[in-house]
Amino acid sequence: MMKLNCKDINPQIACTFEATGETAKEVAEKMMEHVKMEHADDLVKMNMSDEQMMAMLEGKAHG
Ligand SMILES: [Zn+2]
Repeated sequence: MMKLNCKDINPQIACTFEATGETAKEVAEKMMEHVKMEHADDLVKMNMSDEQMMAMLEGKAHG
């Protein structure tokens, strides 16, 4: 089981969302969906392409 929390991406964020899945890719996809829904403004500020964002999220997913 892999996990990724909003706080793993930004420790300052006041969000307790946690994405879970079998693989880092699944977790990254769930987190991407959440970020687009809930943190669209932050996503714009990060100025990353979807590919860069997915790679970053996959890299931060942990067991
Ligand atoms: Zn969040």
